[in-house]
Amino acid sequence: MLVVTKFGGSSLSSSTQFQKVKNIVESDVRRKIVVVSALGKRTSDDTKITDLLYILHAHLKYSVKYNDIWEMIYSRYVEIKEKLNINYDIEQDLADLYAELNKNISKDYLVSRGEYLTAKLMSAYLGYTFIDAKDVILFDYSGNLNDELTQNAIREAFEKNGKIVVPGFYGGYPNGEIHLLSRGGSDVTGSILAKCLQVSLYENWTDVSGVFAADPRIIDNPKSVKEITYKELRELSYMGFNVLHEETIFPVRSLNIPINLKNTNDPLHPGTLIKNECSDTEELITGIAGKKDFISFDIVKNHMSNEIGFLRKALSIFEKYNVSIDHIPSGIDSFSVICSTNNVSKYKYEIISDIKNELGADVIVDDDLALVAIVGRNMKCKSGVCGNIFSTMGNLGINVKIIAQGPSELSIIIGVEAKDYEKTLKALYSTLIG
Ligand code: ADP
Ligand code: ASP
Ligand code: MG
Repeated sequence: MLVVTKFGGSSLSSSTQFQKVKNIVESDVRRKIVVVSALGKRTSDDTKITDLLYILHAHLKYSVKYNDIWEMIYSRYVEIKEKLNINYDIEQDLADLYAELNKNISKDYLVSRGEYLTAKLMSAYLGYTFIDAKDVILFDYSGNLNDELTQNAIREAFEKNGKIVVPGFYGGYPNGEIHLLSRGGSDVTGSILAKCLQVSLYENWTDVSGVFAADPRIIDNPKSVKEITYKELRELSYMGFNVLHEETIFPVRSLNIPINLKNTNDPLHPGTLIKNECSDTEELITGIAGKKDFISFDIVKNHMSNEIGFLRKALSIFEKYNVSIDHIPSGIDSFSVICSTNNVSKYKYEIISDIKNELGADVIVDDDLALVAIVGRNMKCKSGVCGNIFSTMGNLGINVKIIAQGPSELSIIIGVEAKDYEKTLKALYSTLIG
């Protein structure tokens, strides 16, 4: 039986955290594949190595002096090496990287060095073999993972070496250049490795004892969820639960490999198990997540419902500007297209004018919208949740601008003004969960 064991930056911020990681890895013989992020924050006002590397890149690009930042990066790695007396010449690797710094250095390459150096340090500390992600996580030039090549490369590396450490967050293009994943992407690396090696469990070690039922930055001491399905987590992480990268579930889900989210600082706590089917629970709601920064285009035209193809024509305007759409709640002669502000703000006025000119419809734009997703596998076929939501919102005097329910009854999405977001989340948490 094999386990992929991924440690996030918060589990790798100092020599003490490295020691905890070693204890965890050595306490279970199945932990033969270790994935690491870059060194994270030691305290809440510290800076992650990944962020320092992004800043370093900007300094290089704009020819600003960068020695102070380089020194911060350098000393964090060397301090861990020295404190733990690790037998690896990291000073040489750092000197080589320093020699490569120049105005045109690739951002992906430079930022990926955070994970690369952490993995080299960890592999020497654990006595595991370092495997460079650029040689085993293989992308095509469009940035899509090549499943077959990746699977073969990982299997070969594992079979040859037995115990391996792989840096997360990046992989390689066919020419060996670095392709970086999006932020938090080491979670995805771990999931890819778990799938390719067909392991029995993917452990994701972080600084909290599992998935909370709501964002801990807004809700004090939210409950931790014992079990959650892949689908529920996907809905919640898409809507702002950034404890796991939103793409994490896809590779493991196809083989039904469970993910166990665990706390490096409290390893005996069972954490959260994420899988296909969960055991029965009385709870109707598993979690509540939300995000600000959505725009709603409310499109209105008399007799729209009789006009065949109207929806398709409207959506093709969004497609023309390469804007992805989050939700489409609809009425009879109107519907709304909801998109995240980031995706659409550049083309907002073009889209409005195309809808008016090409479709002869009116458009009302609401660009200060927050969405809240109430997610629970047990909501299906049960009455009362919507009633509860509306009475809670009514009691607070908050106007619900949008309501949408997915076809599988897994989630209910409501839209409120961004200024009411925190208040909404707190009130719904206390009515439906707390
Ligand atoms: P890592 O460094 O291990 O990758 P992250 O910072 O990416 O850790 O994710 C863990 C953090 O996610 C927690 O410290 C917590 O503050 C935050 N978080 C946000 N939403 C949730 C949630 N619903 N449940 C648990 N943690 C959450
Ligand atoms: N170090 C990267 C980040 O900060 C990747 C990760 O932590 O998963 O986003
Ligand atoms: Mg993370």
